[in-house]
Amino acid sequence: MRVSITTKITIWYTVFLLIITGCFFAVIINTGNLRASELAKTKLMDSVADASEEIEAIGEKFIIDSDLSFYDDGVYLSVYDESGALIEGRRPAELSILPRLKDKSMKRLEGDDGEVWYSYDSLFNIGEKPIWVRGVVKDFAQNSAFSFMIKIFAVALPTFVILTALGGYIIMKRGFRPVREIIKTAEDISRDGDLSKRIESVRGRDEIHKLAVTFNGMFERLEKSFKEEKQFTADVSHELRTPLAVIISQSDYAKEDVGYREKALDTINREARRMSGLINKLLTLARSDSGRLAAEKEDLDFSEICESVAEQQRYLTEEKGIKFISEIEPGIRVFGDESMLMRILINLTDNAVKYGCENNGKDDRSGAVDADEKNIIKMTLKNKDGYACCTVEDVGPGIDEEHIERIWERFYRINTSRSDEGSGLGLSMVKALVKANGGEVKVDSCPGEGSKFTVIIPALEDKSGESK
Ligand code: ADP
Repeated sequence: MRVSITTKITIWYTVFLLIITGCFFAVIINTGNLRASELAKTKLMDSVADASEEIEAIGEKFIIDSDLSFYDDGVYLSVYDESGALIEGRRPAELSILPRLKDKSMKRLEGDDGEVWYSYDSLFNIGEKPIWVRGVVKDFAQNSAFSFMIKIFAVALPTFVILTALGGYIIMKRGFRPVREIIKTAEDISRDGDLSKRIESVRGRDEIHKLAVTFNGMFERLEKSFKEEKQFTADVSHELRTPLAVIISQSDYAKEDVGYREKALDTINREARRMSGLINKLLTLARSDSGRLAAEKEDLDFSEICESVAEQQRYLTEEKGIKFISEIEPGIRVFGDESMLMRILINLTDNAVKYGCENNGKDDRSGAVDADEKNIIKMTLKNKDGYACCTVEDVGPGIDEEHIERIWERFYRINTSRSDEGSGLGLSMVKALVKANGGEVKVDSCPGEGSKFTVIIPALEDKSGESK
């Protein structure tokens, strides 16, 4: 049988409470009884002693003061002469048999109804004449106030145990509700695979409610990463399907039409290169995800790398009528992977051309358009507090606030009409490559005014031993 933790805890502390209260009750009754009997005996002895003072001997006769009450506060008194004959007194109706008189003797008697009584006899010499005074009292433990108190305890203690057990059970049941919900939600998710399910009981400040919130957060992230995974697979298939379809159709044409062959081969070559580029980027990202993107780092002159990329890009952009400016501080060294650093810079400058210049070649303008203020790219390299900071800046349309965070996501493209070539993987790859080189990359952009991408990599101290 499966017993819930709530039931287990409730049973445990109820049994514990029962034992504790039972012991407590037993001790109270025991000490109460003892104390009550002691009180009864003391009172009996005092009453007998007091009674003796109310008796006087005049000649042969005993005169008992009228103040002496033979029944006072539960104590019955009787006065006997030396021979044991009753002079005056009262005795309880429940005691049909009384013991023989015996000096200074406290006796325990059983009444006709089974109740406990005490009798105490004392022999006094009053006016040289002996006289017996006997007192009889019912054990106080049986008096009504005491037994009423015991009855109250007998009812109150089990009620207290029941209420505590019940209250504890309710509190625990409520407290554990989120746990039951967590179990149910996790079971539902693993059965239906529906990651959008959430735990409802999250209002509360205790640890279990916090656990529910944490689980919800975990489900949220799981759902997001599953969605991203799905989206990623769909995007990859889509991106690969398009060039493949072109390659298949072009090769079909080329087979049928010999004259078209050269043009078809050009297209096939372009599409195959595009696919290869895409697969390379995907490989880089996959390696980065699994922590296997190993940079072959060495002591490099970053300034020289920037110069060479700037030179190459200047040559390519000049043809399009784009002005390429570079301000590169010489002698900045970094510990990095040369080919990765080059890929980073080429990607950023390619993006500046594609998305930050009007003459990006998309319009298929014949010949170069004169460089104007909308067709300028600037690359800079500086050493700032021991870090090599390389910027690639353009004066293009910039990036809107709503997109700025998302441009680093895989396959995220803002305006697909500005360039047909891109796949939305460039910046995510740049980020992975910069990370592999121990640096970081950020973007500042003002819509309508341009964008500035900054790559920051720790610089090595220069040969003289100082960090510039
Ligand atoms: P792709 O590989 O397709 O070029 P990226 O990941 O490099 O994609 O860039 C993602 C998106 O970021 C692009 O679709 C583009 O809209 C935007 N973007 C990148 N660089 C710039 C830039 N210099 N100016 C404006 N937008 C840019």
